[in-house]
Amino acid sequence: MKYSYEQLEQFDKQYVWHPFTQMKSYLEEKPLIIERGKGSYLYDVDGNRYLDGYASLWVNVHGHNDPELNEALHEQIEKISHSTLLGSANVPSILLAKKLVEIWGGKLSKVFYSDTGAAAVEIALKMAYQYWQNIDPVRYKHKNKFISLKEAYHGDTIGAVSVGGMDLFHRIFRPLLFERIEVPSPYVYRMDEYGDEEEIVNYCLKQLEETLEQRHSEVAGMIVEPLVQGAAGIITHPEGFLKGVETLCRKYNILFICDEVAVGFGRTGTLFACEQEEVEPDIVCLGKGITGGYLPLAATLTTEEIYSAFLGEVHENKTFFHGHTYTGNQLSCSVALKNIELIEKRHLVSDVQRKAQALAGKLQKLYELPVVGDVRQKGLMIGIEIVKDKKTKEIFDRSEQIEHKMILEARKRGLIIRPLGPVLTFIPVLAMTDEQLESSVDIIFAAINATVQANKVKLM
Ligand SMILES: *Cc1c(COP(=O)(O)O)cnc(C)c1O
Repeated sequence: MKYSYEQLEQFDKQYVWHPFTQMKSYLEEKPLIIERGKGSYLYDVDGNRYLDGYASLWVNVHGHNDPELNEALHEQIEKISHSTLLGSANVPSILLAKKLVEIWGGKLSKVFYSDTGAAAVEIALKMAYQYWQNIDPVRYKHKNKFISLKEAYHGDTIGAVSVGGMDLFHRIFRPLLFERIEVPSPYVYRMDEYGDEEEIVNYCLKQLEETLEQRHSEVAGMIVEPLVQGAAGIITHPEGFLKGVETLCRKYNILFICDEVAVGFGRTGTLFACEQEEVEPDIVCLGKGITGGYLPLAATLTTEEIYSAFLGEVHENKTFFHGHTYTGNQLSCSVALKNIELIEKRHLVSDVQRKAQALAGKLQKLYELPVVGDVRQKGLMIGIEIVKDKKTKEIFDRSEQIEHKMILEARKRGLIIRPLGPVLTFIPVLAMTDEQLESSVDIIFAAINATVQANKVKLM
């Protein structure tokens, strides 16, 4: 039996608690109820079509309902859907691990699976801490803290929240968290007083160095989102910052952990963001795009050096006691493997580079709007910061929810995007065509403009 929109809406509001959603406002709105997808389009239960301008939360690579990804899943499901990785192995998880190490192409050689980005981060933190304890529990007794950037976001489980720096999300949980050391990040648009890009990078690295000088003996590692801080509002880091962080981690003997959950798998115009500054992290977290947006899967990759610190005799208790029930799930691993093969076969990464370049000019047009303060882009990861006043860079009062109104205007015009605080994010399906990308930007322009017109009085 087919349910009507109204029935589904009622059940949704009666039974479902949505993530990161102000439920009281949600109950007053008409929810978007998606029924199917094809390519870059999402279709709701009434058959309305929308461009997927958030890649279904930054995960979709080749488009929805891709025949080759579907086929890979059909093939696997006829064999087996799941068996455990605890003390035994399965075919797709073996082949995917080999593939991940090959495409990383650096010194990472071991893959530890999980199922969400947050879990991949938890694993990275526990692995880093235990690494120091395994190699010398006396000398490294105090290495139990992590450094992360201002406005960092690494997921929503308690360990991941502990290394997070987004006050709005994390403040309430502070009493539950372990200690984190915060250092500034190069948020160029809001750091005028520190000078130009280069001076801002130098300032941030100098702060990091001072912190490390004083406290490196208590620090297990530093975790960063390479090139772009996504959830913070698409904060794109200027060239040289990531490399500078790596250099300091090496100098002060702490582990360098890169969270590629958002930026991995082509999003920034290279397969992995780390490639752009030729950095070699000790631990890398992967998630989101790893399965092309089909199934939950994440992975934590590390070096032979870290892995071998866990190879003690049984009585030494050096084992990494961590695992999830669905670790290495066959369906997830098989679709991830096919996703990577298709990224290669379809030359997706060079295509993203080309499309991102073509789009850059078009995005500049958004500055014509009186409320667009900053447009930031890295590959197909775009943030549009909305301000009340371009000079003072003041943002709108949060209670006005102006950015939310803008995305509803975009939805009316056939595009799904999401705001992050004062920033509209446009994170399209990576396979989106040039025409679809251009018309998305046209819709964003029209949606902002319509919202400005409707709120004209308040703007003046
Ligand atoms: C989304 C994200 C995570 C968390 O991933 P989940 O799958 O939502 O747990 C971690 N780190 C970064 C950088 C992210 O963007």
